[in-house]
Amino acid sequence: MHTLPDDGFGTLAIHAGQEPEPHSGAIMTPIYQTSTFVQDGVAQPRNGYEYARMTNPTRTALEANLAALEGGVAARAFGSGLAAMEAILKATLSGGDRVVCGDNLYGGSERLFRFWERYGIEFEFIDSTDPEALRAGLRPGARLVFLETPTNPLMRLTDLEACATIAHEAGALLAVDNTFATPWLQRPIELGADLVVHSSTKYLGGHSDVIGGVVVVNSDPLAEALGWQQMATGAVPGPMDCFLLLRSTKTLHVRMRAHCDNAARIAVFLDEHPEVERVLYPGLPAHPQHDLARRQMRGFGGMITLDVGTPERAESMVGRTRLFALAESLGGVESLISVPGRMTHASVPAERREMMGLTDSLVRLSVGIEDPDDLVADLAQALDGIG
Ligand SMILES: *Cc1c(COP(=O)(O)O)cnc(C)c1O
Repeated sequence: MHTLPDDGFGTLAIHAGQEPEPHSGAIMTPIYQTSTFVQDGVAQPRNGYEYARMTNPTRTALEANLAALEGGVAARAFGSGLAAMEAILKATLSGGDRVVCGDNLYGGSERLFRFWERYGIEFEFIDSTDPEALRAGLRPGARLVFLETPTNPLMRLTDLEACATIAHEAGALLAVDNTFATPWLQRPIELGADLVVHSSTKYLGGHSDVIGGVVVVNSDPLAEALGWQQMATGAVPGPMDCFLLLRSTKTLHVRMRAHCDNAARIAVFLDEHPEVERVLYPGLPAHPQHDLARRQMRGFGGMITLDVGTPERAESMVGRTRLFALAESLGGVESLISVPGRMTHASVPAERREMMGLTDSLVRLSVGIEDPDDLVADLAQALDGIG
């Protein structure tokens, strides 16, 4: 089902930002577990390293690797996806500014935005599947556009190239949350975005063992502004987490191919299953934005949402799977299942959930890379007894 070739991604994933360590030749970037760095004289740091909140060599390697994968000028790593998102707000906005955002963002992003309303930042939510809705939302004072595609959990897509043009015409920056797609599937900076943010907790990490975030930027001033946020507000990841993420990105392309293949197979199985009312997956030709997905993405990802008709049936299904573990989060090698309306998106106000069709009868799958026969069998037995 892949629509685009690999074009050197795997080589960058394994090598970008990393050199053998000069002292010993260690091929893996060491975990520089240190808080400070000895200086050659007063205010004469060696190789630019002074204090590990500002920079740390393990983090520097990770940042260079992620910048290469997203095709950006630089990357800045943070302690979580939300810390990375907040750094974008702090680096680009001042009181009175307006942010125009997609109406189906990750639940925690909405919660963060509501906190920021207290400080005089205004957030306007628009249906970004229609670029004209973005144009209408960009009244004067809009400094930042914040989009997510595909969205979580409704799997709606946004045309990033069209939205980048519209945002820039209005003098606003475009930030894209690329957590669901990863740079292997979609590279927003190449489509015109100024900033890309990830929860690296998800596919970039890929093994459900790190909380992390990153911002990749398309210009030196933005790199400097985000670096200043790391130094001045301190929400940085430790070197062990940076090491784990560096180790993870080496297999991102291999994992993503497996996630896509497994999800494609499961989407077709669910689509034909009599107990399932609706399957939301951009790889299905019936998805309303399948053509945009083919144009904008290399493949269709590992996330699937299905509607089983009622909240009771959703609860019954997620309680019956054995391989698919009932948990929040996504993007790991192991398969997860959840009811997003009652879990990850419970903090979204009920009327907004209703408005966008995020009902409690929706079940979200993060399809892992186990044997697809076993995954299909697990879903089959769960649906057969759904009651
Ligand atoms: C999980 C997630 C976040 C938040 O990231 P954390 O690492 O949990 O802070 C942001 N955006 C998306 C799309 C996510 O899935």
